Amino acid sequence: MDENMEKILYSEADIQAATKRLGEELTRDFDGKHPIVVCILKGAIHFMSDVIRNMDTYIEIGFMDVSSYGDGFESSGKVKIVQDLDMDVAGRNILIIEDIIDTGRTMRALVDIFKERNAESVKICTLLDKAERREVEVKADYVGFEVPNEFVVGYGLDYFNYYRNLPYIGVVKPEVYKNN
Ligand code: 5GP
Repeated sequence: MDENMEKILYSEADIQAATKRLGEELTRDFDGKHPIVVCILKGAIHFMSDVIRNMDTYIEIGFMDVSSYGDGFESSGKVKIVQDLDMDVAGRNILIIEDIIDTGRTMRALVDIFKERNAESVKICTLLDKAERREVEVKADYVGFEVPNEFVVGYGLDYFNYYRNLPYIGVVKPEVYKNN
């Protein structure tokens, strides 16, 4: 375990089991629908890669980078498109792959963007759902784990852009935050 980590919430094996389960559900639900699977950068990189390798149906993939948070933990309440998806979504089935839904603002904005662009359908798959923190109405269709209200890092999730490379998801020791 990394020396700055207080505890591990989900091990590599836990995550692998979750992505396998989700991949099987998505295969069943998207078979014949030829979805565009949209990875929300940067946090969903590993999750996207693991989920789609468990999807046994025809898909296309795309990437979109949006930011709602600064470099710490507080939501700015605003969502900015840093890098847009370079595909036409009109008439297409969209599957958004996200690392975590917290207040729900980012996901709400993303769903609205795809609807405005006339997507046929928009479904949400998130690795982590912090449902108790929700401020706007948004419900994920596919969830890896319901997480408690703690700031988590690893497996794509960052703190000041660090820890994305960890193969597990954990909570950082409080003194790490105090030193920043
Ligand atoms: P929301 O718009 O739902 O409040 O926030 C979504 C974004 O906030 C996520 O994509 C993620 O970047 C960030 N975020 C929310 N909670 C956490 C957390 O516990 N850990 C990390 N690393 N990022 C988080």
